[in-house]
Amino acid sequence: MIIVVSPDASPEDLDHIVARVEETGRQAHLSVGTERSIIGVIGPDDPSLQDTFEALPHVESVHRVTKPYKLVSRDFHPANTIVDVGLGVTVGGTELAVMAGPCSIENESHIFDAARAVKAAGANMLRGGAYKPRSSPYAFRGLGPEGLAYLAAAGKASGLPVITELMSVRDIDAVCRYSDVIQIGARNMQNFILLDEVGKAKKPVMLKRALAGQIEEWLLAAEYILAQGNPDVILCERGIRTFETAYRNTFDVNAIPLVKELSHLPIIADPSHGTGKVGLVTPVAMAGIAAGADGLMIEVHNDPEHALSDGAQSLTYERFGVMMRSVAGIAAAVERTLSGVRAPVAAR
Ligand code: PEP
Ligand code: MN
Repeated sequence: MIIVVSPDASPEDLDHIVARVEETGRQAHLSVGTERSIIGVIGPDDPSLQDTFEALPHVESVHRVTKPYKLVSRDFHPANTIVDVGLGVTVGGTELAVMAGPCSIENESHIFDAARAVKAAGANMLRGGAYKPRSSPYAFRGLGPEGLAYLAAAGKASGLPVITELMSVRDIDAVCRYSDVIQIGARNMQNFILLDEVGKAKKPVMLKRALAGQIEEWLLAAEYILAQGNPDVILCERGIRTFETAYRNTFDVNAIPLVKELSHLPIIADPSHGTGKVGLVTPVAMAGIAAGADGLMIEVHNDPEHALSDGAQSLTYERFGVMMRSVAGIAAAVERTLSGVRAPVAAR
């Protein structure tokens, strides 16, 4: 249920409404807006409470929410959520977030080089996997804790916040110690125990869409994290499995404007996993930003042919620079900024 409070309500009036909600054994989530404040009521649905709340002073209207997710819904929280990931970088504001780096952290000097290269091209976050979900148990599965330490050091040296995947509750302390953002990968979108645990963590979480995840399932997965008290969730569209085999995944561009309509959470486009093909990454990155994404996750490697994972979708440093200039042109058209990147003359 959502309680819309009239604009003349004082902070004390709001407290009074919150207290009345809590008396019914439900939780009240206050969202203070510039024009109106909204109180989201979480708890068992009881239609008779609509009249009870409507009768309270300074209540303008009361609406029942039929969607199964509440805290992530835009009804509960009309303003966009902006997630602060540290070092002056935010996700969800006017400035686009660009998380770039290799699929896997391969060794110390490699991640340091990658950090320097992506920063020079205008990225504002560094990515790299230390725990890799691989289809084959014989493939390179990441450097584990050693990789986390290299990533954190490379981020520090370049001044970029870092993001890395957490696959298991077992490694949550290590990932929280070394990473600014916890990535929950596509294969763990519905690992509900893991979602509960990152919901208790004091770190932003980027939740990728599952390979066959429906939008509602994805938003409900995000709800798990918010329900544990962590409001700093970023969604990431990384493509879904379809009947098409000409590319690795089908990047679902529709998801971006739909998620923006349904939720206040920021959303990142990942055209690297979304396509699996290096030649498609730049056009799909541009499409993601044009559709309203708050940023990009891009795999970059100095020598994609010899990458330990995902070489086929990794941009070289040079191609990444070209991509950033193309994206800057689109960013300007949709009134977003990409500081430090000059758009191509024709697009400006
Ligand atoms: C990754 O970011 O390297 C990754 C494994 O992504 P996804 O979970 O989307 O497959
Ligand atoms: Mn990858």
